[in-house]
Formats: sequence, C-alpha cells, structure tokens
Amino acid sequence: MSAAPLKESIHAISLERLRTRLKEAGHPGYRAEQVLEWVYQKRVAGFDQMTNLPAALRATLAQEFAFHALDPVRVLGAEDTTRKYLFRLADGALIESVLIPASPALYGEASDRRTLCVSTQVGCAYGCKFCASGLDGWSRNLGAGEIVGQILRVEALSGERISNLVFMGMGEPLANFANLTAALEILNSPWGVGIGARRITISTSGLAPQIRMLADNPMQVRLAISLHGATNEVRQQIMPVNRKYPLETLLEACAYHAERKKQRITFEYILIENVNDREEDAVALVKVASKIKAKVNCIPYNSVEGLEWNRPDEARQDDFMAVLERGGVSATIRREKGHDIAAACGQLRRQTLPSNAVADLGFAEAQGMGSAKDAGS
Ligand code: SAH
Ligand code: SF4
Repeated sequence: MSAAPLKESIHAISLERLRTRLKEAGHPGYRAEQVLEWVYQKRVAGFDQMTNLPAALRATLAQEFAFHALDPVRVLGAEDTTRKYLFRLADGALIESVLIPASPALYGEASDRRTLCVSTQVGCAYGCKFCASGLDGWSRNLGAGEIVGQILRVEALSGERISNLVFMGMGEPLANFANLTAALEILNSPWGVGIGARRITISTSGLAPQIRMLADNPMQVRLAISLHGATNEVRQQIMPVNRKYPLETLLEACAYHAERKKQRITFEYILIENVNDREEDAVALVKVASKIKAKVNCIPYNSVEGLEWNRPDEARQDDFMAVLERGGVSATIRREKGHDIAAACGQLRRQTLPSNAVADLGFAEAQGMGSAKDAGS
C-alpha cells in the first residue's frame, strides 16, 4: 500500500475554512464560493477546469488540495435495481456504497427517490456477531472527502441524483465523529451537495456519548439505532458494544436525542432465528420502543458466509410483527431484495479481499444481481 496522500481532499473542506485558507494565501475570500461552485454544482474533476479563476489561484489550490476520486473496482446490479459499488481508495483500501432506487410499493411508481448507503470506515471495530463488516476488524476511518466522494462518484457513474442518504454501510459512523460531521456539513449545505438534513439517516450500534453529541449538533439529521436485542441478555450475545453501553445507558441517550431534536428514533432489528425472534423478544421490544416512542424497522437476517445464523421463516416473522402491532408499536419489515443488500454492506468487500480469493471466484455468477447470499433470497 502506498502512503496516505499529503494534500487535503478538496471534498473535505467547508466553505468557511476554504475562505480562511484562501485569504491566508492572499486571495479574496469570495473566491471560495466560486471554487466550491465548480466542485459541487459543475462537478469538475480538476482545478485546471475552473476557467473563470485566475491562474495564480488555481496554482494555490493545486498546491494545497487534491481531487481524490474513488476508483470503482466493481459494480453489481442493473439499472432499475439496487446497485452495489466497490471502490478502491487512494491507499488501496476497499469500501462499498449501495444505491437503492425507490420502492414502488412504498413510494409509488413515479417516485424519484434514490437512496445511497454510504460507508464511514474501512472495516469495523465493533464486531457484531452477525455482521460481515466487522469480520476482518477495523483498518481506519474514512476522511470527510472519502465520505462525500462516495456520493459524487456514484452520481457521476450512474448519472442519477441521490435524494437520500443512509449511513448504514461499512463501519460505525459515530466512531468517526469529526469526519462524519464535517462530511454532513458539506452534504447538507447549499454550497455543497445540498441534500436536506431530514433525508439523511445516521445508523449506530449504540455509542451513547456520541448519540448525545449528535443530539447537541444543530443539524436535523435522523438517527437509527441497531438494536437487535431488547434485553441486555440477548443484545450482549450478539453485540459486544452492549457491555460498554448497556441498554439502559443507550435508551437514556436515545431519549435525550429524541427530546433535543423533537424527532422519533428508529430501531433497526434484524430477525435472527432462535436468537431474538421469540415471542418474549417481541414483548421486550414493545416495552423498549414504547418507552421512547421509537419506530421499529425489522430486517430478516441476511446470511453471511462463515456465520452460523439463520433467518426465521415468514410465518415466524409474521408472528413477531403481530406482537409489535398488538403492542401499538409503529413497525415495518423490509422484505425487498435491495434492502437486504443494503442491510448487509460489507459482504461485497469481503468477497473481493485478496485473503478471500476463493469466495472471490463467485463474482462471475453474482454479476446479474448478487449471489443467492448477496441478494438474501
Ligand atoms: N455500524 C452502524 C452502521 C452500519 S448499519 C450500525 O451498526 O448501525 C448496517 C446495518 O445492517 C445495521 O443495522 C446492521 O445491524 C445491519 N446488518 C449487519 N449485518 C446484517 C445481516 N447479515 N443481515 C441484515 N442486516 C445486517
Ligand atoms: Fe460494525 Fe455496525 Fe456491523 Fe456492528 S453492525 S460490526 S457496528 S458495521
């Protein structure tokens, strides 16, 4: 692997900071708006294309900043379906982003909703027992430019505008807090990518202190919690993070967030056979969700190669949902393929890592729409 690039990514800087930097270098502050207009409105790929800027300014920019385009290694999926993008970063690390088209069942045929599921780290340190992203451990945080870069690159490759973002790719977003919030500012601002805060969802495995920090941040982004267990006993069995932040601590932080933001939180709950899908689990979930008026999003477990867990059959899923409904919880279940793929971010990268060469051979068959495992069918 080559050394990390020394120049700062142009996709990692806010308007305000760029203004300061340009002024320090002897350029008028208003040039910052022009530069970012080239970057985010016109989407140029180099400073030499910023034709209305003086040559001296372009030289300063090229000296201090770089365009680090993400290199697409593989794309899985077709035009009208979920598409998975595997990107190589400047240091050779691999990450994935997943583009999910609107579901006609949920949003109507004419919806132009396009959701991108983005990664925030290379690997993940939290080691949830059901998740592909954590299987090889954590390598590093993504920089803000690498987070923003996923949106720009997918828009350029697909020719489509992304309307919604979910931070549900590889990694734990709240463990990369500074870069996450820097990226959010760029993604949300009118001088940047301009995606509305309410169309952005951050998912966390439950880092209580950072949930409170996010609550104190004025941006109105939405919060989802990967709950997956409604008692400490069950949650601990599959999510080691629960030892550090047990359910009570997590729920207090969630309540604080809901109160500060005047927003309802979503609990994500993967249904894993005989682990968290019993009637008593549903009853416990009703209790926890009611306490903070959270919505619940159930996701049938998507198999991961090398892991022994199974997804419950549909009858068992329905029984679980019925308990939630009777308990008055607002709950949905994701059954579309695309969402399964999104929910299982980290799998494509694993298939492609050199240490996984055997699994990698499966890629040819997976070209159409992912392998049986990939598609969670
Ligand atoms: N680290 C953050 C962000 C990743 S989100 C978090 O855990 O919330 C990825 C989502 O997909 C999480 O809700 C995660 O629990 C879920 N997931 C992971 N492995 C999965 C699998 N095999 N099947 C279904 N969902 C899975
Ligand atoms: Fe990390 Fe989230 Fe996967 Fe847990 S579910 S290992 S926190 S990416």
